[in-house]
Amino acid sequence: MGRVYNFSAGPAALPEQVLMKAKDELLDYRHTGISVMEMSHRSKEFASIIEGAEANLRKLLAIPSNYKVLFLQGGASLQFAMVPANLMKRGKAGYILTGVWAKKAYQEGKRFGEATVLASSEDQNYSYIPDPSLISVPEDLDYVYICENNTIYGTKYPCLPSCHDIPLVADMSSCLLSEPIDVTKYGLIFAGAQKNIGPAGVTVVIIREDLIPSDLPESIPTMLRYKTHADASSLYNTPNCYGIYMCGLVFEHLLELGGLDKMKELNEQKARLLYEALDASTLFVATARPDSRSLMNVPFVIDPKKVTDENKRKELEKKFLIEAENKGLIGLKGHRSVGGMRASIYNAMPLSGVEALVGEINRFTKENA
Ligand SMILES: *Cc1c(COP(=O)(O)O)cnc(C)c1O
Repeated sequence: MGRVYNFSAGPAALPEQVLMKAKDELLDYRHTGISVMEMSHRSKEFASIIEGAEANLRKLLAIPSNYKVLFLQGGASLQFAMVPANLMKRGKAGYILTGVWAKKAYQEGKRFGEATVLASSEDQNYSYIPDPSLISVPEDLDYVYICENNTIYGTKYPCLPSCHDIPLVADMSSCLLSEPIDVTKYGLIFAGAQKNIGPAGVTVVIIREDLIPSDLPESIPTMLRYKTHADASSLYNTPNCYGIYMCGLVFEHLLELGGLDKMKELNEQKARLLYEALDASTLFVATARPDSRSLMNVPFVIDPKKVTDENKRKELEKKFLIEAENKGLIGLKGHRSVGGMRASIYNAMPLSGVEALVGEINRFTKENA
């Protein structure tokens, strides 16, 4: 089988042009005679790779100069702990619970101080975002924490909560680079690379400089301090060199395509096409509430209102997944907590992949409704 359309939530599809370029440079990186995988992280070649990656990310997101960009390891999950370890100065933070990733972050926050739940959508299996304009934020918090795009449930904040001057911390693992954002609205943004940025093993952190503490308790390990990594430009220890190189290729590729305005336009086009097909289907239904829908992750099931027998629904979902896979549409199985299907349509998913999926949804509806 050749290349297929990969709808996996993460690790997810990478742009084919990026993979081809990596292949071309795999054995002999730009006449060095070695692979990036074999290269010292202290070499001038790697310095230009990581500096170039940072410069292009800054360009893509228009990151102001008073923000640091870090390329760390430990995944988004390590940030759940690093955020409170570094930012809970007065020992108080507010969390908005919109899924298991936000909840895991909240549980880590509780290890470091008083973590308060400001709002939650757990009552409806996280199928919506609590109205940000109705969330009241106490003034004595060190930060407000959100998970901006909820990969498992396919929800995304329609707008940000207003936080006065309290820093907003956002897990943007599954939406960073999908559209332009105003970085100045955030104190800290982080994202595991393996959704929309690059291969697994790199975590991008964008942090406002004044939030990097230099007076942390002795008990906080060196590697868990943002200052360690900021002072060393992400080279305190050996970073994920090859992963950073791949992220750099993706940044370059996105700039060549026209930047994030262009990505937003394409992503909206793909998402619209898919939601319209699901809304029109007499068999399927999208599970996220329409006002909270994600551009990147689209979970859907056989509609319980249309097929009331649960076993029949499960049977149809299984059949759909098998038939889709046979047509080269893979990675569509939903997360176990939502069930059904999920199409992750990150930047690297071409319009033709979404068109193929829509064709399959329409065909399956016609044959099985
Ligand atoms: C995938 C994901 C995570 C977990 O990322 P790891 O890198 O595996 O720790 C956290 N938050 C969100 C929103 C995710 O999509």
